[in-house]
Amino acid sequence: MIVTAERAGAVDRGFADYFCCPESFAEFDISEAVRDDAREGFFRFGPDLVCYGRAAGETAQTAEGLLPDLLASVQFDDDVCVLPFAPTQVAESMRRERYVKVERQSFHQRLIRQLYYLLRPLLPVKLRRPLQARWLRGWQNRPFPRWPVDTSVDRLFTELMHAKLKTSGQRQIPFIWFWPEGKQACAVMTHDVETDAGLEFTEELMNINDRYGIKSSFQLIPAARYAVTESTVEKIRRRGFDVNVHDLKHDGHLFDDAEEFQRAAEQVNAHAVRFGSRGFRSGALYRNQEWYGALRFRYDMSVPNCAHLDPQRGGCCTVMPYFVGDVLEIPVTATQDYSLFHVLKTYDQKLWREQIAQIAAMHGMISFIVHPDYLDHAEAVQAYESLLGYLVELRKNEGLWIARPDEVDDWWRARRAMRLEETAGGWKISGQDAARARIAFVSLEKERLIYRF
Ligand SMILES: [Zn+2]
Repeated sequence: MIVTAERAGAVDRGFADYFCCPESFAEFDISEAVRDDAREGFFRFGPDLVCYGRAAGETAQTAEGLLPDLLASVQFDDDVCVLPFAPTQVAESMRRERYVKVERQSFHQRLIRQLYYLLRPLLPVKLRRPLQARWLRGWQNRPFPRWPVDTSVDRLFTELMHAKLKTSGQRQIPFIWFWPEGKQACAVMTHDVETDAGLEFTEELMNINDRYGIKSSFQLIPAARYAVTESTVEKIRRRGFDVNVHDLKHDGHLFDDAEEFQRAAEQVNAHAVRFGSRGFRSGALYRNQEWYGALRFRYDMSVPNCAHLDPQRGGCCTVMPYFVGDVLEIPVTATQDYSLFHVLKTYDQKLWREQIAQIAAMHGMISFIVHPDYLDHAEAVQAYESLLGYLVELRKNEGLWIARPDEVDDWWRARRAMRLEETAGGWKISGQDAARARIAFVSLEKERLIYRF
């Protein structure tokens, strides 16, 4: 297929924001055959990368089977490449999980779900497990997002950087490095407190974390299960840990109905003021990113990277934070403790290490949820401490930045607002916090992207 450019050199906002590069390096020509009202679908971009969004030409309605490869229809001329899709649109469709087909629940299924949540507080983990296993059945066979880490959005942008370097005649392209002080990747530890027992364990959990020099955040349920007083919040903050809001009542229904959500969001926002919190996470990662406008938070942490083991399907397909309007999404990119210990039934570090390796290879953010409630037996505590020990090793030897979510939020906002400009003396970063930022250069060596400071 021959495609022709509609608008020469339009800046692709998603690409420019991902790399934080000067706009002149983020211009792409988009085929005029990409229509705004076209149906979204799956396609490949190269042999190994699956994408979802609007594209010129054929796309598929499921990720299964052979997908059309649109890399073949990119037109490379001397100094221009014409894309069969708009990168920002495709990245947004994946991050916002628009590829998830709404599975209409029957009356029966709804009833069962409501009963489950009604009885859940009374069900011990042992009885919950077989019910969850039934719901998750077949998760290993889901081709998209990719288990155990999906980096489709990240690989899409790096693929495009590759194309840009090939066609622009630039030997190298400058951008503002992903993390402060040139850190190679980022790790975030968070704890959702589910019950009284969990709340009681927070003190000891802070002791454990402090032994490894790791500060984390605790998400507290504001209107059910246990009482959160001013002193509960104060005790955590005083030790350098942070407190965020965890759902409203944690009953699994927060995102059921748009109108009720608006009302509930007002209560959630009021609790955020009471806690002095800037961040939110929903119960069991139920979510609807299209409704985030009602939440008065700076950041959210309710979107998994690949949700095969969570009650709500989907995943944001990226290991980087991203903006949903003004809210920064800090996705959950590693498998939760509950899923590891009770669904996959292992205390082994293998899966976490594999996820860490894949995310670090993209210079991304490795974020964990470990519940104080589930650290109630020796194997679990041991597994958690092994993880902390490994993160500390990476911090020491591999330039891993271990940060609280509010620190990631500060940095990601500051980075987005920075400007990278060419001066007589070379490239220069301006803006708040610019002293912590590093100028990186990306170039092509033997068809591979190489980053350099
Ligand atoms: Zn929870």
